[in-house]
Amino acid sequence: MAKYIFVTGGVTSSLGKGIIAASVAKLLQARGFKVTIQKLDPYINVDPGTLNPYEHGECYVTDDGAETDLDLGHYERFLSTPTSQANNVTTGRIYQYVINKEREGAYLGKTVQVIPHITDEIKRRITLLATKHDYDIVLTEIGGTVGDIESLPYIEAIRQLQWEMGNDNCIVLHLTLIPYLKAAKELKTKPTQHSVKLMNENGLSPDIIVCRTEEPLNADIKRKIALFCNVTIDGVIEAADAETIYDVPLNMMRENLDAICLEKLKLPLRQEPDLKNWKGFLTKLKNPKSKVKIGLVGKYVELQDAYKSILEAFIHAGAMNECKVEVVNIHSEHLDNENLKSSLSGLDGILVAPGFGNRGIEGKILAIQYARENKIPFFGICLGMQCSVIEFARNVLGFETANSTEMDKHTPYPVIDIMEDQKNIIQMGGTMRLGAFDCELNINSKSYEAYGKPYISERHRHRWEFNNTYLDQFEKAGMKAVGKNPKTGLVEVVEIENHPFYVGAQYHPELKSTVENPHPLFVSFIKAAMDYSSRKKNPSAIESSAN
Ligand code: GLN
Repeated sequence: MAKYIFVTGGVTSSLGKGIIAASVAKLLQARGFKVTIQKLDPYINVDPGTLNPYEHGECYVTDDGAETDLDLGHYERFLSTPTSQANNVTTGRIYQYVINKEREGAYLGKTVQVIPHITDEIKRRITLLATKHDYDIVLTEIGGTVGDIESLPYIEAIRQLQWEMGNDNCIVLHLTLIPYLKAAKELKTKPTQHSVKLMNENGLSPDIIVCRTEEPLNADIKRKIALFCNVTIDGVIEAADAETIYDVPLNMMRENLDAICLEKLKLPLRQEPDLKNWKGFLTKLKNPKSKVKIGLVGKYVELQDAYKSILEAFIHAGAMNECKVEVVNIHSEHLDNENLKSSLSGLDGILVAPGFGNRGIEGKILAIQYARENKIPFFGICLGMQCSVIEFARNVLGFETANSTEMDKHTPYPVIDIMEDQKNIIQMGGTMRLGAFDCELNINSKSYEAYGKPYISERHRHRWEFNNTYLDQFEKAGMKAVGKNPKTGLVEVVEIENHPFYVGAQYHPELKSTVENPHPLFVSFIKAAMDYSSRKKNPSAIESSAN
């Protein structure tokens, strides 16, 4: 039978529950346990797919095509094991399921209520994950903060599970904030006491309290938290601010958090955590031998969470190359012919980001033209790839008004178009090409060189596609479809000739980059940027490479 660790949050949001959950899971995995992490989100959207990035950051997509919370990205990046739809459940999904069952008459005339019907469905979703995949330990993170009205059914479901399974099989880890008051020169425990009281009012009490703090917790403070929150002293864990999120597993190991979880769950320690690869990554990350500047061209660049997986993939690929990647945010809406050169000329590589809709699209196209003509390494992802096709059509093929029909329904040159089977869809949620699809790479391509194999599988989230009617014309003029879906013939990767690195991917490679398996295209892109940067310092080399 699987054991459960519930991760709740107190005092304030943004304390990093996802990172703490991922770190504990990493340590348990490194001790030889089979673990997974699940996120329960108390909002009413069925999934975050319809949420604007300003609301909820990036939408992370799993192999099975679920549009999920960005915390699942952290889980995968830490654990290097794929998650699925079952790893992210929202209140909306729970209610939708229960209401559908009610309409089918499955409740046999009973009044359908939050308790027991909603809480039973929450419990079913939690335990289903473990039984389906044979996990030793399931970590379940509850979104939001204890005390929120909408998280009450989740707290109640955990209370019931703990009662049913016993405290040896089911523990609660509460992440909280211990603020430091500068004027008083003191750490304050009262907000934590209050948040634990709120939990107690609902019949639940934490077994472990992880304290985010800017100052070290001394023994007195730890004792005070333990005493007033009713946990053992070794169950009070200090989580000091870390230099990088990837330090957190090691910090938590130093605090013995994994061992304490196992002890409370009555599980053996098995072995010391094997973190050889993880530590190797951190050493490289912290000791770069060179540096590159990459421009991230997008319309949400002011919002760090909107491109979370891309930024993390840069960190993984940078470490792999022992190179520090400085990301320069470039707002695509603000790019024009006037400022193009001053904005882009100092860069060693340009990544044009995914996105939806018209805003900022012309800036993206200008940036791509600049990268193409000046032979600056270019990486286009999803909409970024589609823009590279539009740019090539306009400026190389001479189709001046070429566009995607997403931006201009009546363009005479619909080089990016919606596929027939997508045309009649009016519902928004879950109706894109979503999840993992196979792709076959041409062996004479930069992409093949990067992956080192011709058959790959990558995750998608889009409606529009390269319009194959124009493929011949593109290929004759030098833009090649080097990756195709073997079943449908859809173009998945484009490259151009005579360029140090120019790759446009219809899929989202960033979603599969992890600490222990950095994504090959990101690794190659950073390598190309490093080469470009050293050629810049030695201009004669630039000339010879351009010839
Ligand atoms: N808007 C484009 C489409 O739907 C690209 C989507 C994306 O970049 N994820 O096809």
